[in-house]
Amino acid sequence: MRSPALKWLFIAAFGADPKQRLRIKRSLMAATVYLLCIGLQVYAYYAGYMHLDDAKVLSTACVGNIVFWYAVLRSGINLRFQEPSLTLPQILSSLTIIVGAYSLTGPVHGSTLMLLALVLVFGIFNLKARGATIAGAYTVVIIGIAMGIKVTTDPVHYPFKLEFAHFWMTVAIVPTISSLAVQLSNMREKLKAQKNELAEALTRIQVLATRDELTGLVNRRHMLDVLGQHQKRLERSGHHRFCLAILDIDHFKRVNDTYGHGVGDEVLRHFAEGAQAVMRDTDVLARWGGEEFLLLLNDTSPALANIGLERIRTHLTTIQFSAEHPELKPTFSAGLTGYCDNERLDVCIERADKALYKAKRDGRNRTIIQASPADVADQAVRDEAPQSATNTMA
Ligand code: GH3
Ligand code: MG
Ligand code: MG
Repeated sequence: MRSPALKWLFIAAFGADPKQRLRIKRSLMAATVYLLCIGLQVYAYYAGYMHLDDAKVLSTACVGNIVFWYAVLRSGINLRFQEPSLTLPQILSSLTIIVGAYSLTGPVHGSTLMLLALVLVFGIFNLKARGATIAGAYTVVIIGIAMGIKVTTDPVHYPFKLEFAHFWMTVAIVPTISSLAVQLSNMREKLKAQKNELAEALTRIQVLATRDELTGLVNRRHMLDVLGQHQKRLERSGHHRFCLAILDIDHFKRVNDTYGHGVGDEVLRHFAEGAQAVMRDTDVLARWGGEEFLLLLNDTSPALANIGLERIRTHLTTIQFSAEHPELKPTFSAGLTGYCDNERLDVCIERADKALYKAKRDGRNRTIIQASPADVADQAVRDEAPQSATNTMA
């Protein structure tokens, strides 16, 4: 979009932080008020309404103010403040300079009142309710003081009747602008709160849609999405292997019948926690059904995946499943298989399921590896499988 030189210039002028950039841009936009103020002084000087020295002092104050706020924002000093945009101090300093212009522009001083209103309008978009009230009150007080001084020191250019009319208008208009700013600020706060509530609700919905409430594990629906993604990854890369294992707690119905459903739930939670504690970070455990879990083991062969399953089995013998019934030590049976290129997921899951039923038939508390068609062809992978008393290859 921009040439590199322009881009560099832009970053040099406004910095790289988008928030700081916005603050600097706003401040420079407000600087138009100072430029209008300088323009008025030039006119007042050439029209013979203003002394050159006064015009110089005022113009210096205007330019100094622009430079000062630019330096504060560009250097990042503003970040040390609770409200880094420093809108209120910037507005107060603008108001002060305009009141200075009001006092020094003689017969054309009435025009500066418009600038006061313009500064307050800038504040509408950025000030908080308290800041808007302070800015409004400050304007009325400071212009009131300036008028009082000028009425007594320069009654020719600042006659009492005219100043009274000016003050009257100021008192009528400034609080209206301030109250608009307060209303807008309250609206902004409300919108912000609603936005946060919506973001929280969205997070909650996402959790509910993807997680099992009891165990906190990935739920069945989300697991199918995860598996779909892995399938695609495998199709694309061709070398990303994965295995699936279905784990089913042995005689879980007895746990419920003997200790009650509450203890059953506790066992399910601890089972999930215990398994996750020793799983690889890249593997995914899902609650597949009541007391069945589907484990996705990434980048591994069935023989090596089985080592992971045995690690879970061993770890589960060491944990406490129920605080009330520490004697409760449920075991699990598992069916394990490797995913075969281009096969349907349900075919792979079905194979793991068959292996699980064999594990149950063979006496439970064991893993049966069901060879996939690819494994059958790959004798080397089977040879790699460690021998274990509890594991059998179907
Ligand atoms: P097997 O060794 O053959 O797997 O026997 P099992 O008793 O584990 O199997 P079965 O399928 O007969 O029983 C599963 C039980 O799991 C029955 C059901 O009440 C229970 N169950 C399913 N979901 C929940 C749950 O969320 N909480 C509790 N406490 N129990 C559940
Ligand atoms: Mg069971
Ligand atoms: Mg079951």
